[in-house]
Amino acid sequence: TPIPDYLDELMRDCAGTRGGNVADYIPELSKVDPSLLSVAVCATNGHVYSVGDDTAKFTIQSMSKPFVYAAALEEHGLKRVLEVVDVEPSGEAFNELSLDDETGRPLNPMINAGAIAVNQLINGEESPVPERVDYILDFFSRFAGRELTINHTVADSELEHVDRNLSLAHMLRSYDVIQDDAQDAVRGYVEQCSIEVDVRDLAVMAATLANGGVQPVTGERIISASVARQVQAVMASAGMYDAAGRWMTTVGIPAKSGVSGGMLGTLPGQLGLATFSPPLDGKGNSVAGARIFRRLSQDMGLHLMATE
Ligand code: GLU
Repeated sequence: TPIPDYLDELMRDCAGTRGGNVADYIPELSKVDPSLLSVAVCATNGHVYSVGDDTAKFTIQSMSKPFVYAAALEEHGLKRVLEVVDVEPSGEAFNELSLDDETGRPLNPMINAGAIAVNQLINGEESPVPERVDYILDFFSRFAGRELTINHTVADSELEHVDRNLSLAHMLRSYDVIQDDAQDAVRGYVEQCSIEVDVRDLAVMAATLANGGVQPVTGERIISASVARQVQAVMASAGMYDAAGRWMTTVGIPAKSGVSGGMLGTLPGQLGLATFSPPLDGKGNSVAGARIFRRLSQDMGLHLMATE
């Protein structure tokens, strides 16, 4: 079957997926239409296919974490970044305070504590927040191949209910992992999470990682191959919150989800994948998105460890 026909069939099959709830701890996110559904695939040769509500915009949320980690690795090198955040799966929820006992480092950059720590490395370690966020926005725009913007309504909505992330920032400060004032640290992180994308942007961004750092549509090298490898390896072990182990055994695709209902995945050397459907399961992963990924993995034999 040609890819577009296959994606159409896949969408129809998954459109009736029931269950899950739209995130409401960020009030603005609860206003989304829960029936929105889309899938996009970008091959490393630059061909992009998408079906469904593929022009619907949503905030990138936790799917920003692999890309800001990539930016930090490009800017500072692995050695410096490892001093700030480790690469071990936490097995805990995204907003858990999972820190290394001895050093106080967050266990990985895919949980909030790790992402808050990584955000503050960007644009020189002492950057004012607006310049840091501009840097990230520009960096993400190169991955997407178009100029992205920040949804300030969502960012402001989250900033009114941000006690949990603020407490993480205070803990990180107490261990000297971050130097920023806690409010600034969280603002930088929340604005990075509020960058707006659609499912095609995510597929192209994922395909850039899968393609070893070269954006497959524009041809620009954005990160080195070793950074792309590092980011995908961490996604594989820690990308799906506390469901990461089960995800890797059943789906076998390095992936990252976000509370807006997006999900992106990478097949190194082959594909970037993305889905969008707002209702989430108890672990914070999109219900229909996970179903689409499971089917894609089975139908197309995409499980990384599969040999047949
Ligand atoms: N900005 C959200 C938070 O920190 C992102 C969470 C997510 O997508 O998992 O709570």
